[in-house]
Amino acid sequence: MNAHPIVGDQARPASRERRARGLLGALLAGLVVITVLGLLTTLHELMHVATARLLGIPAVLLSPTSAGVSDQVAATFAPWRLAVAAGVAPLVSTALGLAAWALLLGARPMARAVRAPLTWIAIVGVPYLGAQLVISGSPVRAGGSAGDAAVVAGFLGLSRPMDALVVLVGLVWFPVSALLLAPALRVGPRESASWPRLSDVRLAATRWRRVAGGIAALAAAGFGLFGVASVAAGGGSPLPMLRAVILSGVAAALLTPWRHPVADRAWRTWVGPGLIGLGALFVFGTVANNDYAYFIYLVGSPLLMASLFATGGRAAAPQSPPGNGPSADGHSASVASKVC
Ligand SMILES: [Zn+2]
Repeated sequence: MNAHPIVGDQARPASRERRARGLLGALLAGLVVITVLGLLTTLHELMHVATARLLGIPAVLLSPTSAGVSDQVAATFAPWRLAVAAGVAPLVSTALGLAAWALLLGARPMARAVRAPLTWIAIVGVPYLGAQLVISGSPVRAGGSAGDAAVVAGFLGLSRPMDALVVLVGLVWFPVSALLLAPALRVGPRESASWPRLSDVRLAATRWRRVAGGIAALAAAGFGLFGVASVAAGGGSPLPMLRAVILSGVAAALLTPWRHPVADRAWRTWVGPGLIGLGALFVFGTVANNDYAYFIYLVGSPLLMASLFATGGRAAAPQSPPGNGPSADGHSASVASKVC
C-alpha cells in the first residue's frame, strides 16, 4: 500500500506546522467570536434598560442575557411601554447585523482587521430576527421569562393564525439569512462575493452523507411545520422550532463538501472558530443558566447553511493566465490544496 505521491513524507512536517498554526488561529478567532457576541448581547440588554428607563420603567440587567423588571412591577405599567422596551432592542440588533452585512458586501477590498469582526457582527445579527420571530408565538421561554417578540406580539393581540405566520416567517428567515451571509463568507483570493445560485451549490460526494443530510433537512422542515401548526392551534412551545433550527444545521454540516475550496476556507475562517466560540458560550450559558446556551443553534445553524450556500457562488475574475486549469470554483480538492 503506497502513499499517494502528492502527500509524500516531505510534506508532513510542513502540514503539521500549518495545522498547529491553524489551530492557534482558530482559537484566537474563537475569542473574537466570544467578544463580538458578548458585546452585541450586552448592547442589546442595555438597549432594553435604556428604552425602559426613558419610558419610566425601572429596568435593570437581570442576567448577562436578560433585562427588565419583575412581573409584579411590569403589571403596573401600560402594555405599550413594555412592548416598546421589549421591541427596540431586537430591532437595533437586527439593524446592526444588516448594516455590517451591507458594509461587507459594498466595501471590498477591506482590511482583515475590520472585515473579521464586521463579518461576525453580520453572522450573529442577520439571523437574529429569525430567532426573535420564532419565539414570538410562545408566551413563555425555557427560562420562564417572555421573549422580546412575544411581548410585542402579546401587546399587538395577534390572532393565532397571525402568530403562526410570524413564526413561519421566523423559520424561513434562517435559510434566507444563510443565503444573505454566503457572499460575505467568500473571502478567498479566488472567490468573488457573488450571490450563490442554488443550482450551483455543491453537495458532499459521499452517498450516506447526502442521504443522512436529506433526512435531516426533511426532519427540520417537518418539525418546523409541526411547530407552526401547534402555534396556530394555540400551543406555544418553541421546542419544535428549536429542533427545526438544530436539524437544519445538522443537514448543512452533512451536505457541505468540506474539501471544496470555498467550503474549506469557510470552515477554517468562520465555522471552526465559530464553533469554538459558540461551544464555549454554550458551556457558560448552560452552567450559568442564561441564553448564551442557545447561540450555538441560533448562530451555528445558519452559519453552517451559509457555508453550504457559499459553494454556489462564482469564482473571482481569473488572475492567472488562461489554460491553468478550470477557473470555476468546482476545481478538484487536490488542485485547491495547492492553491490555498
Ligand atoms: Zn431582548
